[in-house]
Amino acid sequence: AQLTSAEADEIERAAEAALRPRRLAEFVGQRVVRDQLSLVLEAALARRRPPDHVLLAGGPGLGKTTLAMIVASEVGAALRLTSGPAIQHAGDLAAILSSVQENDVLFIDEIHRLARPAEEMLYLAMEDFRVDVVVGKGAGATAIPLALPPFTVVGATTRAGLLPAPLRDRFGFTGYLDFYEVAELEQVLERSARLLRAELTPAAGAEIASRSRGTPRIANRLLRRVQDWAQVRGSGVADVDAARAALEVFEVDERGLDRLDRGVLRALCVRFRGGPVGLGTLAVAVGEEPETVETVAEPFLVREGLIARTPRGRVATAEAWAHLGLEPPAPPDT
Ligand code: ADP
Repeated sequence: AQLTSAEADEIERAAEAALRPRRLAEFVGQRVVRDQLSLVLEAALARRRPPDHVLLAGGPGLGKTTLAMIVASEVGAALRLTSGPAIQHAGDLAAILSSVQENDVLFIDEIHRLARPAEEMLYLAMEDFRVDVVVGKGAGATAIPLALPPFTVVGATTRAGLLPAPLRDRFGFTGYLDFYEVAELEQVLERSARLLRAELTPAAGAEIASRSRGTPRIANRLLRRVQDWAQVRGSGVADVDAARAALEVFEVDERGLDRLDRGVLRALCVRFRGGPVGLGTLAVAVGEEPETVETVAEPFLVREGLIARTPRGRVATAEAWAHLGLEPPAPPDT
């Protein structure tokens, strides 16, 4: 039977959860953020107070949710999860806040997508540990102030720049997560292979790591696909041949670019003759949301030197043409 995409997502989520490091010491890479966080957490433990609110900024799959869970487990607190898009009305947030217990860690994913009224309620709660619960409707509505126990908000965002200053200022500390080095992803893969009881050769680990777009989530996902290939078509061992074959099946190229990356690059080079082109126009050309193009595809393409962001729009670099095996257009006659 075919899996529905919801079922497939559920399986991916479960596989991901199983591979999450539980302690800060198990968290690979991101030295700076790890040091900062360990200081904040140790100090909080010594003071017997919940840690200051923490904002985590970085692209998808770089470890924000994992770190939020680690914050809770390192201080022995309960974790509650929600997200900006899940909170439609201020009332939804009021309900969450009024059930928060002392020391809880409240994780808010995609916090930049909170609606305005919820945002204002949140920064009051973060600053004064207070929430105004509105009872009744219309002219008879009254706001009843409710004191909250001390707790910690961990916010995650792919776009720290989108957070309004008043909200950003309520966080005691912001950790910026960057792409991982290949050697760090090799460590992630080695650990994951051990947990999955997969036999992964070091050469195959290096191959997968170098094609994972600097992102642990992608590395782990590709590992599972390589393991699938090894089991079904190979010898059972995830070796370098299995890795190359599986990555070809899943359309990951030698540089780690996936379908979306190549789609963006191709549209930019072929359709828009190398640009400059605006984000919105580019997104329409590849049939994606501008936010997806901007937060998922572009940061990696920029880091790889394949595209550049200019004030007039996105432009393809000489390397982009070379990567697609195309000739850049001749400069116009002068
Ligand atoms: P985000 O919330 O930033 O989208 P997640 O925290 O959900 O990312 O991480 C995605 C996957 O990558 C998880 O399965 C997690 O186990 C793994 N992962 C992320 N960062 C690390 C890390 N530093 N070390 C080991 N595994 C990691």
